[in-house]
Amino acid sequence: MNILITGGAGFIGSHLAERLVERGDSVSVIDDLSTGSVKNIQHLKPRPNFQYFVESVTNQRLMAELVDASDVIYHLAAAVGVRLIVESPTRTMETNIRGTEVVLELAAKKKKRVLITSTSEVYGKRTQVPFREDDDLILGSPDKGRWSYACSKAIDEFLALAYWKEKEVPTVVVRLFNTVGPRQTGSYGMVIPSLVRQALTGSEMTVYGNGAQARCFTHVSDAVRALIALAEHPETTGQIYNIGSVEEISILELAHKIKEMTGSNSPIVLVPYEEAYEQGFEDMMRRLPDLTKVARTIGYRPSFNLDRILQDIIKYHMGDLADARNQEHQKKLHAV
Ligand code: UDP
Repeated sequence: MNILITGGAGFIGSHLAERLVERGDSVSVIDDLSTGSVKNIQHLKPRPNFQYFVESVTNQRLMAELVDASDVIYHLAAAVGVRLIVESPTRTMETNIRGTEVVLELAAKKKKRVLITSTSEVYGKRTQVPFREDDDLILGSPDKGRWSYACSKAIDEFLALAYWKEKEVPTVVVRLFNTVGPRQTGSYGMVIPSLVRQALTGSEMTVYGNGAQARCFTHVSDAVRALIALAEHPETTGQIYNIGSVEEISILELAHKIKEMTGSNSPIVLVPYEEAYEQGFEDMMRRLPDLTKVARTIGYRPSFNLDRILQDIIKYHMGDLADARNQEHQKKLHAV
C-alpha cells in the first residue's frame, strides 16, 4: 500500500513508518521537524520504499500531491507536550486545527482513508474513570493555556467525524493515552524520558505537584500495532477508539521505580505545578482508558507491562548518552 504519515519524523510517527516500511509498504513522511527529528528516520533513508519531505502539512501544494499518491493517511503531525503547549498556545491551535483541515480537505477529493490521532487529554477534567469513547469531555477554562491542546484536538475529532458523515471521507479517530518508548525526548516535558534522563545523569528527579497523580503508560510498539489494525479494519470508519494500557501508577511511585531500576543516587524532588508550568496550572489526577471497544474490534491488548516498558526506555537512554559522550570525546580528539 501507499502510505502517507504526517509527523512521521516524530516519536510515534517514526515507529509507525518503520513498521510499515518493514512490511513492504511504500511510505512517505512529511514533517516540519518542529518537534520531530531526522535522527528518528535516519535508518529508513536507504530503504527504496521510503521517502520524506521536510515541510509543513499546511503546504497545500505538496500535500495535494502526497495525499493523491496515497491509499491511507496517518495524520500525526501536531503540537505535542504539555510544556510546549503551555508556552505556545497559538502555535498549538494553528498547527493542530489548520493541519487537520488541510489533510481532510485534500483526502475528501478522492475519499482517501484517514486516521486522525487524538489524545486522552480530550477527556480533560473528567474524574470518573475509566474513560470511555462516548463520555462527555470536560474541558477547563480558556484562560488556562493547557486546555488549548485538548480543545484543538477535540475540534480535530469533530472535523474527522463531520467529513465522514457529510462528505463520506472514511476517517477513524484514535485517542492515544501516554505513549512512551525509545526516541521520545523529555524536551517537551514528557515524564518518563525526563525522569530516566535525570536518573541516569545524577540530576534531581522532578516530580510535579505532590506526585499522587497517576497515569497508565503504553509502549509505542503496542500503540503502532493498534494504529495499523484500526486504520485497516473495515468497521472502524466514523468511530473513535482509545489506545492505552490500564496499569496505573502514581508519578511519585514511578520516580521511585525508575530510580531503583537505574541504580541512581539522584534525589527525588517535588516541584510545585506553578513552577513547572504556569500559575493556576490544572493537572488530571487519573487518566485511565476503557479499552473494551478497541479490544472488541481488533483484539487489542497491550503486550508490554510497565517494567518491560521502563527497561526498554532505560536501555535506549543509556545508549543515547553513551553516543553523546563518544561524540564529545571524538570532538576533543580532533581539537587537539
Ligand atoms: N510530570 C512530572 N515531572 C516531569 C514531567 C511531568 O511529575 O518532569 C508529571 C506531569 O505533571 C503529569 C505526569 O507527570 O502529571 C505526566 O506528564 P506528561 O507530560 O508525560 O503527560 P500528560 O499525562 O500530562 O499528558
